[in-house]
Amino acid sequence: MKPRILIIYTGGTIGMIEDSATHALKPFDFSHLMENVPKVKMLNYDIDNIQFNPPIDSSDMNPSHWQQIARSIADNYYDYDGFVVLHGTDTMAYTASALSFMLDNLQKPVIITGSQLPIGEVRTDGEENLITALQIAAATEPDGKPMVQEVAILFEDYLWRGNRATKRSADNFNAFKSSNYPHLAKVGLSINFSREALMRHQSAGGLNPQYNLDPSVAVVDLFPGLSEKVLRHILSAPDIKGVVLRTYGAGNAMTAPWFIDLIKETVDRGIVVLNVTQCAYGGVHPSRYVTGDVLAGTGVIPGFDITFEAAVTKMMFLFGLGLDSKQVKFYLERPLAGEMTIS
Ligand code: ASP
Repeated sequence: MKPRILIIYTGGTIGMIEDSATHALKPFDFSHLMENVPKVKMLNYDIDNIQFNPPIDSSDMNPSHWQQIARSIADNYYDYDGFVVLHGTDTMAYTASALSFMLDNLQKPVIITGSQLPIGEVRTDGEENLITALQIAAATEPDGKPMVQEVAILFEDYLWRGNRATKRSADNFNAFKSSNYPHLAKVGLSINFSREALMRHQSAGGLNPQYNLDPSVAVVDLFPGLSEKVLRHILSAPDIKGVVLRTYGAGNAMTAPWFIDLIKETVDRGIVVLNVTQCAYGGVHPSRYVTGDVLAGTGVIPGFDITFEAAVTKMMFLFGLGLDSKQVKFYLERPLAGEMTIS
């Protein structure tokens, strides 16, 4: 049996061409993309595709697009061995994180990739990324089970857990990195999977997709000099249910009474505040410093080593389930899809 793979083409640089008037890159259709990768035929897979109409630059992604991708996977889940999502790099880590929560009990590969240079360029990284993503989506264990049973990002030399990865470079071919979790595979002459890092499911039953997302989330990035007026304005925005608070180092923030009182007031109003670190490596350890401890005393939830992208999308997902703030807090402190390590 040939591996059956479904490609979902959303857009991104990989399929872009130059606008003749402005020379800026704009998304183009899937047939153009595939014409530039004739080698795909050498894989001898059964490949079908679904494409966004029109394909988009991933800066235009929003939760409705995540729903569209999740539905395409769920509707075709039992007809394919694996899924490859072609996507722009700018918001790839957000899409990967959102899908990791939405595709509950996923036991097949969903490999997201794209490129830094369009597929039509001589030095493109798109051809290699696409072919490697297809091979990973088709890879199996000796017992025939899929090697990858989760949402992952393949870029250049590495396969990363989708909800652990972040775009780190606007220029390098190795554009993604996961600071707090090891790679799932290293791509060289062969593709070497790190079995101990790959997700393995214990639970029986099929895919349990959840499509509702609630974007009533705000983000506050701390910096020395942040004023009470500005912060009060953000936190009093109507309809916000959750705030991702990006703090210093191990989860530290200023101890000025106006700040602590304002955060406490916000938590007491039933708004969920999640503490994530601005640092790329490591995570929130609330009791390491007095400054973190004081903040924890207001009722904010520690995000441990979760990425910013996973924090935002996890909140949207949990509020989308219709949970109340107490239940949302409960799940924020626990990994749902391997997105964080509790310390
Ligand atoms: N702006 C592009 C996008 O995210 C960048 C890329 O694909 O690399 O769609």
